[in-house]
Amino acid sequence: MSRPLPPIDADTRPFWTAAAAGELLHQQCRSCGHTQFPPRRICVACGGDDVEWRRASGEGRIHSFTVVHRAPTDAFRSKVPYAIALVDMAEGFRMMMNVETDDLSALAIGAPIKVVFEPIGEGVALPQARLAR
Ligand SMILES: [Zn+2]
Repeated sequence: MSRPLPPIDADTRPFWTAAAAGELLHQQCRSCGHTQFPPRRICVACGGDDVEWRRASGEGRIHSFTVVHRAPTDAFRSKVPYAIALVDMAEGFRMMMNVETDDLSALAIGAPIKVVFEPIGEGVALPQARLAR
């Protein structure tokens, strides 16, 4: 069983196109300056529709994480145990992503990470957190 691919629509296509090229994007509102993720058609802070795409550094810190020991579907059976983290990115938005590591005991709240991209399908790459050394 193959891993499920993310749903890609008009609102998220720029994000996934950039991810496939190894770049992390987020949105910023030109009206009020709010930084947001995941991508949306409008700004969740002011309701305006003047949001622009910005390139993120890919650097952040783990806000929280969990280790998955029981695969949610057969597609993840070969992956357990694995970690999922909420990451506070340097630009001020929060993302959930898997953590790519061989040492789950090294994970810690506040640990610095760098985003890397894992190709998972034709033209699709998933952002993953890798512990920064
Ligand atoms: Zn706004």
